[in-house]
Amino acid sequence: MSASDITTFLPGMYYAVTARDNNEDCRNYEQVFDIPEFYSNAGTNCFVQCGVCGQHMEILTATLLDPQPEVT
Ligand SMILES: [Zn+2]
Repeated sequence: MSASDITTFLPGMYYAVTARDNNEDCRNYEQVFDIPEFYSNAGTNCFVQCGVCGQHMEILTATLLDPQPEVT
């Protein structure tokens, strides 16, 4: 069982996401990052991009925020 099967996001929603950098050449390699407010945009092409190497991280978990954060 893989935790990386999270490929479906509802559009226009905020999630709490954890993601891991799988790029061996990156100093963030195998580090897990918390993104407390990850916006799903259209619900597709939801990526967490590493700020160091620019590659997409593997999304490990995604939890729909309930309640959704207020957007002003
Ligand atoms: Zn990286």
